[in-house]
Amino acid sequence: GLGIGLVGLPNVGKSTTFNALTKAQNAESANYPFCTIEPNKAVVPVPDPRLDELARIVNPERIQYSTLDFVDIAGLVKGASKGEGLGNKFLSNIRETEVILQIVRCFEDENITHVEGSIDPVRDIEIIETELLLADMDALEKRIAALQRRAKGNDREAKAQLEVAQKLLEHLENEQPVSTFEDQENDAFKQLVRDLRFLTAKEIMYGANVNEEGLAEDNEYVQALKAYAAERNREVIKLCAKIEEEMVEFDEEEKQEMLESLGVEESGLDQIIRKGFEKLGLMSYFTAGVKEVRAWTIKQGTTAPKAAAVIHNDFEKGFIRAEVISYEDFVKYGGEAGAKEAGKMRLEGKDYIVQDGDVMHFRFNV
Ligand code: GDP
Repeated sequence: GLGIGLVGLPNVGKSTTFNALTKAQNAESANYPFCTIEPNKAVVPVPDPRLDELARIVNPERIQYSTLDFVDIAGLVKGASKGEGLGNKFLSNIRETEVILQIVRCFEDENITHVEGSIDPVRDIEIIETELLLADMDALEKRIAALQRRAKGNDREAKAQLEVAQKLLEHLENEQPVSTFEDQENDAFKQLVRDLRFLTAKEIMYGANVNEEGLAEDNEYVQALKAYAAERNREVIKLCAKIEEEMVEFDEEEKQEMLESLGVEESGLDQIIRKGFEKLGLMSYFTAGVKEVRAWTIKQGTTAPKAAAVIHNDFEKGFIRAEVISYEDFVKYGGEAGAKEAGKMRLEGKDYIVQDGDVMHFRFNV
């Protein structure tokens, strides 16, 4: 369930963006033989300059970045919740992802028609979000009908849920997403969210697809989108999908030159991957050996034994303790030996909460 679902109206640049992500996956796929390749899924490396820095110090045989899953959600068009386009098929695909990335068209091009006849980011967003809202209302209404039957039989739990479900339905009918329901801590509400996996409960990010010229400076469409997003505390990341698709095939030097000529510091795709990783509540710790320098993905707030389990289950079962050097100290003292000498290696036990960028070595019993 930990992934980013890509949605967007037709002709906004969603496929171009997804192609760029797929190319980023394929460029690294030799390093990830365990990932099965599925047509609507891209498993992409999460850019992390710290890992490159560690590799400069350790000089390993290979480097492995953390990865992030993107799922291409086809068929989300106006009327989708009523069966238009691919209809309800898209719903189950979105439910499985945790964050939604909507690609929004912010570029003009006479040769590429817009399904709604004009460029208007806020209208486009509202079309998609209405579909998500309608889908949630539909699911909730079905649940309410079932709860009403159970509540007649004097089922106390059903009665409590019914009350909250009806309040939530009213909230949705006022065009408000599940994520802003006032009683988020209510147990019956939480149960409903777990059972029905509402689409409007998910975090949303926007990818503003602009032409080359729109990268350095925000055009009017991007400005409108940013104003809308700011009111809702949502992230807007600008990208030019066409250029991203070219750039993923460049080497590091070519890429830097390109970015400089475009007047930006970081590629939009890289920002999307990095911010998406954060939005999912994920972080990386590192292992730095001569065979491999590697980032391992964990949820923020993970204890050392659970973090060790990401490498191997036996590491958790036989966990004794962890040797930890912060990324900063590892770099400052030129590697493990130097950091140890400077007294910067800590021994941590089973309650230790792993920090972003920790360089870890686990000791365990077999
Ligand atoms: P989708 O229907 O949203 O998947 O859109 P596509 O990715 O297939 O893009 C639709 C058309 O817009 C294609 O011809 C793309 O080459 C073009 N396109 C995508 N991004 C850009 C862009 O940033 N600028 C311009 N001018 N065209 C783009």
